Amino acid sequence: MNSSHKYVYLFGSNRTEGAADMKNLLGGKGANLAEMCRLGITVPSGFTISTEACTAFTELGRDAVLALIHEQVRQGVAFVEQEMGKQFGNADDPLLLSVRSGARASMPGMMDTILNLGLNDDAVMGLARKANNERFAWDSYRRFIQMYGDVVMGLKPLSKEEHDPFEIIIEMLKDKRGVKLDTDLDAEDLKELVQRFKSLIRARIGRDFPTDPWEQLWGAVWAVFESWNNERAKVYRELNDIPASWGTAVNVQAMVFGNLGDSSGTGVAFTRDAGTGEDLFNGEFLVNAQGEDVVAGIRTPQQVSLVGSRRWAELALVHEDERRVHYPSLEELMPQIYQQLLHFETLLENHFKDMQDLEFTIQEGKLWMLQTRNGKRTGAAMVRIAMEMLKQGMVDEKTALQRVAPDRLNELLHPIFDPKALRAAPLIARGLPASPGAATGQIVFFADEAETWAKDGKAVILVRQETSPEDLRGMSVAKGILTARGGMTSHAAVVARGMGKCCVSGAGAVHVDLKARTMTVGDAVYHEGDWLSLNGSSGEVFEGKIATKDAELSGDFGTLMALTDKYKRLEIRANADTPADAKVAHNFGATGIGLCRTEHMFFEGERILAVREMILADNEAGRRKALAKLLPMQRGDFEGLFREMHELPVTIRLLDPPLHEFLPHDDANQRIMAAEMHVPLGKIKMRVEELHEFNPMMGHRGCRLGISYPEITEMQTRAVLEAALNVRALGVHVKAEIMVPLVGTVREFNAQAEVIRRTAATVFAERGETLDYALGTMIETPRAALVADSIGSCAEFFSFGTNDLTQMTLGFSRDDAGKFLPEYLKRGLYEHDPFRSIDQKGVGVLVQMAVEKGRSVRPGIETGVCGEHGGDPASVAFFHRIGLDYVSCSPYRVPIARLAAAQAALSD
Ligand code: PEP
Ligand code: MG
Repeated sequence: MNSSHKYVYLFGSNRTEGAADMKNLLGGKGANLAEMCRLGITVPSGFTISTEACTAFTELGRDAVLALIHEQVRQGVAFVEQEMGKQFGNADDPLLLSVRSGARASMPGMMDTILNLGLNDDAVMGLARKANNERFAWDSYRRFIQMYGDVVMGLKPLSKEEHDPFEIIIEMLKDKRGVKLDTDLDAEDLKELVQRFKSLIRARIGRDFPTDPWEQLWGAVWAVFESWNNERAKVYRELNDIPASWGTAVNVQAMVFGNLGDSSGTGVAFTRDAGTGEDLFNGEFLVNAQGEDVVAGIRTPQQVSLVGSRRWAELALVHEDERRVHYPSLEELMPQIYQQLLHFETLLENHFKDMQDLEFTIQEGKLWMLQTRNGKRTGAAMVRIAMEMLKQGMVDEKTALQRVAPDRLNELLHPIFDPKALRAAPLIARGLPASPGAATGQIVFFADEAETWAKDGKAVILVRQETSPEDLRGMSVAKGILTARGGMTSHAAVVARGMGKCCVSGAGAVHVDLKARTMTVGDAVYHEGDWLSLNGSSGEVFEGKIATKDAELSGDFGTLMALTDKYKRLEIRANADTPADAKVAHNFGATGIGLCRTEHMFFEGERILAVREMILADNEAGRRKALAKLLPMQRGDFEGLFREMHELPVTIRLLDPPLHEFLPHDDANQRIMAAEMHVPLGKIKMRVEELHEFNPMMGHRGCRLGISYPEITEMQTRAVLEAALNVRALGVHVKAEIMVPLVGTVREFNAQAEVIRRTAATVFAERGETLDYALGTMIETPRAALVADSIGSCAEFFSFGTNDLTQMTLGFSRDDAGKFLPEYLKRGLYEHDPFRSIDQKGVGVLVQMAVEKGRSVRPGIETGVCGEHGGDPASVAFFHRIGLDYVSCSPYRVPIARLAAAQAALSD
């Protein structure tokens, strides 16, 4: 690329070069600013430096990129000068600029923004004269120095306990003047702040604050490009699967001012409720404030609409009289502006056909739109908005289905507080219901410590004055987030909703002391480690732990699920081992059980004793005696499964794990076992020793057990078939499938098939009746996949055990891969965790090949997946593409798999 390549795209009232469909090049913000200009919405003029320039910056460095874009940026500034009728760097009436990042995907707060750029000691005087407002000019100047000092010059707090050094200076001055709010500082105070800020920068950074506007501008552009690779942006990308190669665009735009007095202000709004999905325009604003003040949670914002304001007052326990006087809505305060905003929000939502998140500024009674984007929302809001837009005729069924991210359905399945336990819980504070859900955990005050605690398996509630993008990782591991400051659109609220994490924000009664590591509410002091519970749907904060119960599914959720059935081709079964699991799965719409791991039934109560007796037995007769005790218990379990699933297929797998898993390995438990079973301790120790394997996952397990001990296979077959006959007698049309695990050759399969068929014949003869059942195998060793035609000529169905197949194909132990996989993923050696999302190019090819081979000998052979991948949306899409019949996943992932399967079918 060379300097004749276009890197800069203009937008304004006279000329706009970008459009909404140019997000890859212009980033989301830049593309939508251009689109708003095209729609005739009032937007301050500006230009976007493309993401290609960012990529070039990362690859070639600053000087090379400067040569490429210098002239185009100069022309961009000239365009803005012309549109606004002001000059950049002019001391009498300066054009001031904002410089903001904007990547392809929205990454709220992750990268940097600079406002009021172009100010210096001369220009501030010109601005003051022109606006006839000295205070405003100096306020803008001190904000600029503060932001630029932080973002471009790198003046940050020295430690995590330290507050922002600029804020400390502001607080000190406020104390000295005896005032509470930033707005109480006058022009002289602000001048003093500017001097103090500059001295601080000189002292800490060793350089003067730059006075040349062009030097300021280039510094800001490079800082935005660099911020693409800052720690918090990287973490965000990692959490949201955003490739580093995308880069960010830079938006340079004429400043408009929300801090020009009481007819000015700034705000954020949503065309629908981002927490619940309710079709209600809502938002927050601050009078006489600029830019990030609303998001940063510095003052308590006011509500945009009257309805919203009344709802807020109710939650914040503010009386109507007080609300009207001190916290009026925009609708009451500036009715015309409100009407215009309402017009824009409707226009934008109808245009983009999705819920929009808007930023606006009011400058002396004129409304300017600064941003529109598809709003982040909770899982529940995602479902409700998609279903309501469908009902309202804004989107069609296919679009509605694609609007919901399958993984986000998880949040609708989250537990809620048990109402009984809730009634007894002590309510200690109220904040805003920033992100719904119920959370109970121990108080932690620092994000990095939240991570450490969570790693130790503790449930934590992250309590902060307010959160910042640095806290991202800590927020993502916390059960819930509580902030003392900030509104519904504060960083904590927006990010928490994006993560589907419970959050209560702006709980004003909560005082956080980071040094003492305490949280105080009235007289009560809570320490790090104390238990706290949050209700993110009501904004309530409770002392102590509160019991939770399973969520109930809402009407919209049901509608969405019904819609998935209309489009998906794959069947969704569940991995369920007990009747209780099966019931959950059935309720969630599973159309069968794809895997019952019979060994899971062996651990319960008395059963483990019988299992151990079998393992300790010296001979076949001893084993048979123990197995006879297990038979009625297994049969009962299977009856429960068949009854629960009615006419739906139930696939039952024969015993799979190595026997040592059923014996205790530590001395204390071995002694207990010896006493309970009346056998010498030495005998137990000897058997444990005999069963020890160096690599049990490749040892004596799977069908190898049934081959060594056919009596186990006999007992399990008998239990399945007797249960099936018993339940059939109740009028249920049972569909039993018996599955042999871990085969590698057709002879292994046949050896087990022979035992199963022989046992079936015996059972049928005893009962005087027969029953159709299917006899199939798992394909979970690479060899089985390679010879699937030979195996398929005997087995009636294939169920891919992609956990083992991944383990054995990659040579990554399922149990030990945690030692190196995180490093592998970080370094991009594998794109995804292959145990979570199927390795399509390796393991996936084996699955596809085995399906083809199976069908070549047995057309129509039933094929499915029962490994963990069955509940992973990307894997489900892959299994759809290669033509499997079903996926089977854990009960709580059934809705996710249903939606993923429908989406996969829609993209055929
Ligand atoms: C598999 O290997 O994918 C499987 C489902 O079996 P298990 O996880 O029980 O080994
Ligand atoms: Mg397996």
